[in-house]
Amino acid sequence: MNLKKAALGALAIAAVAGFPLASGNPYYIHLVETIMIYAIVLFGLDIVVGYTGQVSLGHAGLFGIGAYTAGVLILKIDAPVYLTLPAAIAVTAVFGAMLALPALRVTGPYLAMVTLAFGTIIQILINEMTFLTEGPMGITLTKPELFGHQLDETEYYWLVMVCLIASLAFVHRLLHSQLGRAFEALRGSPVASDCMGVSVYRYKVYAFVISAALAGLAGSLYAYSEQYISPNTYNFELTVMFLLAIIMGGRKTRTGALLGAAIIVMLPKLLDDLEVFRVGAIVLAFIVAVSVAVAMKRGKMNGQVAAIPVIGTLALAGVSFKLETMTDWRLSIFGLITLFVVYYLQDGIVGFVRQALNLKVRTERDTTGAAAAALTRANSQGEQELLKASGVLMQFGGLKALNNVDLVVQRGSIHGLIGPNGSGKSTMMNVLTGIYQPTAGSVVFAGRAVNGRTSSDIALSGIARTFQNVQLFGEMTALQNVLVGLHHSFKSNLLDVALHLPRYKREDREQRARAHALLDFVGLGDLAGEEARNLPYGKQRLLEIARALALDPQLLLLDEPAAGLTAPDIKELLEIIRKIRDAGVTVILIEHHMDVVMTLCDRVSVLDFGQKIAEGLPAEVRADEKVIEAYLGGQAS
Ligand code: ADP
Ligand code: MG
Repeated sequence: MNLKKAALGALAIAAVAGFPLASGNPYYIHLVETIMIYAIVLFGLDIVVGYTGQVSLGHAGLFGIGAYTAGVLILKIDAPVYLTLPAAIAVTAVFGAMLALPALRVTGPYLAMVTLAFGTIIQILINEMTFLTEGPMGITLTKPELFGHQLDETEYYWLVMVCLIASLAFVHRLLHSQLGRAFEALRGSPVASDCMGVSVYRYKVYAFVISAALAGLAGSLYAYSEQYISPNTYNFELTVMFLLAIIMGGRKTRTGALLGAAIIVMLPKLLDDLEVFRVGAIVLAFIVAVSVAVAMKRGKMNGQVAAIPVIGTLALAGVSFKLETMTDWRLSIFGLITLFVVYYLQDGIVGFVRQALNLKVRTERDTTGAAAAALTRANSQGEQELLKASGVLMQFGGLKALNNVDLVVQRGSIHGLIGPNGSGKSTMMNVLTGIYQPTAGSVVFAGRAVNGRTSSDIALSGIARTFQNVQLFGEMTALQNVLVGLHHSFKSNLLDVALHLPRYKREDREQRARAHALLDFVGLGDLAGEEARNLPYGKQRLLEIARALALDPQLLLLDEPAAGLTAPDIKELLEIIRKIRDAGVTVILIEHHMDVVMTLCDRVSVLDFGQKIAEGLPAEVRADEKVIEAYLGGQAS
């Protein structure tokens, strides 16, 4: 961390810590305290929504479980705070796991429904289990004691602040570790995540449980803060508010979560007071106008796009002076703001300002050990046959995309797989990597059956691949993409990550160096900090190769790596593929450029309408009658 950042952080902490002393107004102290508590929930919710890209409508329920764990423990056994907080975290995490394990088998609207049902059930349970929770009556409690000292309002505020800072540090470290990259990757491309050995399902559940634990902590803090809890608080409206806060503040940023928390706490108050609302609207219009002006000046935004937020906020400010009473309009304005954000500020307020000011995430290059060999797999000994597929049938309805195909790939070779469009080449790759389960037939890789295993398991056993339609983690940098491929070589756990223990630090340093070496290997060394989606198409293909190599595979499947590449790029690619083979990695190459196939491949198999029509040395195959016929009028080049 650099000095400026540290100083800024210290200043922010001092300001927040000093606020109760400066203000002295219990109402405002409580308001800021609530913002901090909500922010803890939102840090967690953002992991699920912002990073893994799942929807949760169950977080108010989880928040309630945290509050009630603390409440019930105090009611029944008069538990002290150093018991209630950890208990709330643990209990809520367990509930989170119970929700996540079945729920995360589904996605999209179904997931929303399941989590919504969970939230509702929790609320009903709290209401009905009177023997434990006192039901609708609620539980009254007092501020906690710490080391025999009864905390007053201000001291409790500081306790919340400490929890907020700890949560912030924890989440920040988590998201910058291999775990955070796994979360982000599965949003970017679930298929690619699985094929990089990062089990999508497992990491979704993991993210959800961590998120629940944070909601639990926040819930227990909330119980002490309000000194009264009742079932009605943890309702659907609160869940929607949480989601809204993430969307408005901006996903994937801690600042966004803090801002979002401030908005959902303050906005209802703002909308209650016309004067304050007018000031708020003017300030907002001003901020938006300045950001847009800066963005336009830097050529980051064109006039048409920029006009909408400016006009929107100006209109809001104008309307605020027309309004006589606010109460009637409260909900409509709230709804309008939401719509506005969803349509025009998709990265939230923080995302918008960042883009406008052109703030970029910098990746610092750590060169120690960068010389480490990019490819570490030594020439493996052992049997000559690395892969053997026998009688593979892949049926989609009536279509036999693969019809009784046999394929044997020798260790250390480059095996070409060619055929006209739609002949089943990509389907074969998907069968080999577990994306499709073949209707019949078997695949054996390095002496082990592939059938019936998950993609991530197959990937970890040594098969890496690229995709015909590039599947990168678009919002992540080139370096981070490769680091996801290196996920398998991280051994440190959540504790190592949270506390930055030496094991994690060493591992992180080593793997970053390896990732840089791999980028250098494919000639992308200078683009390490660039977001994958911003790379030119040809470079994206090379990045996919680097990411696949990070898996340290025995077998690399390349699905039309030269597609869309310029002639000089193709030459470079040839060189790279040769080097990969020389490092001892076996390659299956699907390619349309015949010259590439002819110069590179040791053996070639030809598919046509799902059947293998020829196989042999490149020259033999090219002279084959059936092959010529299959390609006649095709795209042979
Ligand atoms: P190639 O990569 O050789 O161009 P593919 O393997 O992509 O061909 O496709 C082979 C055939 O299988 C095509 O007719 C394609 O439409 C069909 N196919 C591939 N995947 C699916 C799927 N998931 N569902 C239905 N049909 C599919
Ligand atoms: Mg294909």
